Parts: sequence; C-alpha cells; structure tokens
Amino acid sequence: MSNQVLLETRGLSMDFPVKKGLFQRTVGKVRAVQEVDLTLGRGQTLGIVGESGSGKSTLARTIIRLLTPTSGQILLDGQDIGSLPPSRIDLSIRARMQMVFQDPYSSLNPRQRIYKILEEPLEVHQPFMNSGQRRTLVNEVLQTVGLDPDLGRRFPHQFSGGQRQRIAIARALTLNPDILIADEAVSSLDVSIQAQILGLFEKLQAERGLSYLFISHDLSVVRHISTQVLVMYLGRVMETAPRDTLFTGYRHPYTQALMSAVPRVPKEGVTVPPRILLKDDLPDPANPPEGCVFHTRCVYAQELCRKVRPKVTEIGPGHKIACHFPLEG
Ligand code: SF4
Repeated sequence: MSNQVLLETRGLSMDFPVKKGLFQRTVGKVRAVQEVDLTLGRGQTLGIVGESGSGKSTLARTIIRLLTPTSGQILLDGQDIGSLPPSRIDLSIRARMQMVFQDPYSSLNPRQRIYKILEEPLEVHQPFMNSGQRRTLVNEVLQTVGLDPDLGRRFPHQFSGGQRQRIAIARALTLNPDILIADEAVSSLDVSIQAQILGLFEKLQAERGLSYLFISHDLSVVRHISTQVLVMYLGRVMETAPRDTLFTGYRHPYTQALMSAVPRVPKEGVTVPPRILLKDDLPDPANPPEGCVFHTRCVYAQELCRKVRPKVTEIGPGHKIACHFPLEG
C-alpha cells in the first residue's frame, strides 16, 4: 500500500436550487455538500459514513463529475477536474473513476445480455478495439469477478443478487479504472453474500491496486474494508481518521452517537456503552442550523455551538474533527 495521493477534494461544495411556483423560480438552495476536504491514497479505501440525507451519495456523484460542483476542487493526480465544464470531462477521465451502485438490477439493462452490457463501455472508450479483443477482455473480467464466461449469454434476471453485483463490478472493471466508488454496494445483499462481495473488493484491490471510495450507512462494513473513514452530517465532514483510530478513539459527538447505535452482543466483563439517542430528525438541508450543524441534536451542545461553526481541526495523525468540545481522548 502506498502513501501516494490519487484523489483529493478541497472545499468541495454542491448546492441544488429549490424551485417553486408556476414559473419555477429559484427560492433557495439545498446545501447537499459543504466544504468537504478528503484524500484518497493509491490502493487505499476511504469509507464514508453518515445517516441517509448526510450528502454521501451527492459527494460521490460530484467527485465522479456526474454533477458540476458549486465550488471547490477535485484533484485527480493533481489535475483539477472540478472546474472543467462537463464537455471537457473527456473519456480518459471518466474511465479512471467508475461507480458501483446499491441496486445492481436497476443499473443493468434487463433487455441486454451480460456480454453486451460489459462490451458497451469498451465500444465507447476503446473504439479501436476489434470484437475479438473485446470478447477476450470481457471473458477476462467475468473470470476476475468469479463468473464463468459462458454466463455472458444470459440476461440479468437469470442471476442472483450477489451475481448481479459481481456483473456490475465486472462492468466497472472493463475500463481498468484507478478508482471504484461503491455507493451502498453491499447494502441490499444478505449477510453471507455481503461477505463474499467484500472479499471480492479486497481481492481486486490486492491484485490491481485499486482505490475505493466506499459509501455505506453500515459501520461494520466500513470498519471491515476501510483504511481511513470520514463521517458526514448534513453535507459536512464531522470527523475523519484512520480506521482503527476512528473506531476506538473517536472524539466527535456525532460519531459517538453512530457508534452507540451499532447492536452489540453482550460479553462477560465488557461494559456496553449506553445508546445515545439523537434528538429530533435530521434538519432540513435547505435551512441548515447556524453554528455547528449538529447542535440541534447534540447532547453536549453549548451556547458557542449555536453561534459559531467549528472549523475542521487536526487533533492527531490523519485525525480531524469539527467540534468545539471534543470528547475526552
Ligand atoms: Fe456538539 Fe457543540 Fe461539538 Fe457541535 S460543536 S458536535 S454541538 S459539542
């Protein structure tokens, strides 16, 4: 594993306009992603966690340039692809970052045979490849993800959920990307199938040196696969740290609340920390709270938290938090 930075975002923000009325006038904006700084090293996995509505998926779609950021930088090998207009995001940039979604069935065309689904990206991105070369490559990626190349003649509905996710991963691999963005990629699978797909992600990383942005609401999945973890709330970074530091030495009240919600099997001599129930629902992202965005639900909130937004501050190697009153280390 190397320390070489492959992907970085600096102050990345993504707003969506809120439109109303007959003439669809813009009356506000949803601040889906706010000033996110993150770093992904080559061959490493950055796990991104947070509740539904925390901005994880919007962050992923912005990084991969399915969306044009409102502000900030997306540095891929040092090149800022965040400021390029969509027409300048060329195929070579698109090929380097591929996405695997939660529901493999809806992301695979039900009317196409698997072979065609896997061949299509090659027709677009590798127009000089002949059909024999494409067939060889498609067969290779099917084998890489643990599927018999003969299955390429079948349709998506003829596969199980786990197999369909293998096909979605194979499609992402055909272009030999550097980065895979997995957006809740194992969330819809049974636990035993989840373990197999996580094992496949690990094998591919070891063999190909792939880097992953691994988005999940499931902390145990993120703990298993990540080297670094980033916790998001209402579009903002609350805490980020190397995996073991985050899971054993988190300092942010929101991370504490997420951790306390993970079900644990009681063990003799081990005290299970009490569950911290978050007050109220997630605030409206079109109208986020002043000061610390978490203050309306934080059990430790004080006057300062309601007025002043805490800056993201480094408190240890690779460990940063946005909180005026961090938990005891
Ligand atoms: Fe809680 Fe205040 Fe820290 Fe925000 S800044 S997480 S409200 S203690």
